[in-house]
Amino acid sequence: MQGRMMFQPLLISSFIEHAAQYHSDTAVISKNTDLSMTHTTWSKVANNAKRFAKALNSLGLQAHHRIATIAWNNHRHLEAWYAISGNQMICHTINPRLFPEQLIFIINDAQDRVILFDKTFLPLIVAVKAHIPLVEHFICLSDYDTDVIEALPEAQFYDVLVTKQNSEFNWPIFDETTASSLCYTSGTTGNPKGALYSHRSTALHSMAIALPDSMGLSAKDVMMPVVPMFHVNAWGTPYAAAMVGSTLVLPGPGLDGTSLVNLIDQYQVSIALGVPTIWQGLLTAAKNMGSQLSSMKRNVVGGSACPASMIHTFKDVYNCDTIHAWGMTETSPLGTAAQLKTKHLGLSQEEQTYVRLSQGRPPFGVSLRLCDQEQGTNTIPSDGKQTGNLQIKGHWIIDSYFGKDQSALTIDGWFDTGDIATVDMDGYLRISDRAKDLIKSGGEWISSVELENIALDFTNDISMAAVIAAKHPKWDERPILIAVKHAESQLTEAEILEYYAKKVAKWQIPDEVIFVQSIPLNGTGKILKKELREQFEHILLEE
Ligand code: AMP
Repeated sequence: MQGRMMFQPLLISSFIEHAAQYHSDTAVISKNTDLSMTHTTWSKVANNAKRFAKALNSLGLQAHHRIATIAWNNHRHLEAWYAISGNQMICHTINPRLFPEQLIFIINDAQDRVILFDKTFLPLIVAVKAHIPLVEHFICLSDYDTDVIEALPEAQFYDVLVTKQNSEFNWPIFDETTASSLCYTSGTTGNPKGALYSHRSTALHSMAIALPDSMGLSAKDVMMPVVPMFHVNAWGTPYAAAMVGSTLVLPGPGLDGTSLVNLIDQYQVSIALGVPTIWQGLLTAAKNMGSQLSSMKRNVVGGSACPASMIHTFKDVYNCDTIHAWGMTETSPLGTAAQLKTKHLGLSQEEQTYVRLSQGRPPFGVSLRLCDQEQGTNTIPSDGKQTGNLQIKGHWIIDSYFGKDQSALTIDGWFDTGDIATVDMDGYLRISDRAKDLIKSGGEWISSVELENIALDFTNDISMAAVIAAKHPKWDERPILIAVKHAESQLTEAEILEYYAKKVAKWQIPDEVIFVQSIPLNGTGKILKKELREQFEHILLEE
């Protein structure tokens, strides 16, 4: 017997319709590419989304066509997102920090018909244009601009296209499993692969990230996604913001600490999200500027492990609760978020920080398991002690990559994350490494992440740390630390190694510390360990 309740497909257009209807005057504040500010509202965003959807139709685009964006977090980008997916087309967000060859590869692989771009990225478009023959329209996210026309004569302009249309438009209704957006993995090895999200997966993910034990989003929040819209859809926040009707502050190109502190203070941001490097810059700026960040209640840290010192500083100095979260492009991205349970409330501050330092536990909708090998099916107990290959399953987890016929899953239907972790009885996850970054010394595994976190305890001295495996004649591999020091720091190798001796077993202490000027990062700010290995892995053999 069937239930007797209404069925409505879960469509992205319904998020923006909801925001337009019930949060019409709630602000969406956006920093433009020229650093001016635009103050708009959810109802105006919804109107422009409809007008741009009509503009896309007028250009001859059809359902399922891929429309790429190379843009900052700003209001036009937001409107275009809703226009594209709401109109049954696929919004392909592209990371502008990719190498040009990778950019060309993914534009061609996705068969993008249109590229929407911010003026900042005009040189990039001009450089790759000859290699992306399928792209029919280049639309600059601005009003008419002669500089753009000079460099790219065929360019069209978002504002001009939108102005030509009115907002009388009914969003199409279609199957909720239809593809809505496409995001490529950052591809530290091999070619990037596309994760193709659906309207349904996006809707369920957005509801899950808004839950109190995830990010706890509401209409009382002023949310600033610093994480770019091209990095797994800004972790889904522009969708969840429309669902809950929060105020949005979109920081545009200004991702430096000073600009972010100014936005937080001026617009009273209550929750902001970003990768650890963003927060490091912000904390330094807040200190130098004497800002109390008094409006900030929560900050979400993900993408890489959050150092303990960061959680302490946010809590002790700014009274802000850090939510550490874990996820991947393939998981939409939220897999887990670190929020306390009732049983933790009586614990000491130190013990609570230990819980918050985990990558957190899954919301309803995803499950985790550990296996004894990569792509394996032999499970290991989730007892908080045993380490295994982390696998995940759920409503917003990838099934197969865009354009690939074969499943991305294990034979029994789980997605292997490539992460090595423990999971405890409550589901709290602790990532110890990427499978390929673990160090195997004399048959024993050493976690590079644990050693990096120890180095980052020297917050006043070290701004970035990477531990990699160096080849060793006796032990096969030994850990070495590669670190970037702050300009005035006098920290020495001996001092760091002495500190390690207090924190880890003797055989886990790095064999060598190498200070460098900079560490190579990929397009989403993650350390490119492959490059570091190529450069330094023979160093112990040479010595
Ligand atoms: P991406 O698909 O580029 O977002 O990368 C996903 C990978 O980033 C994960 O598989 C993890 O290895 C890493 N990652 C994401 N969040 C965290 C976190 N909170 N702590 C440690 N590693 C993380």
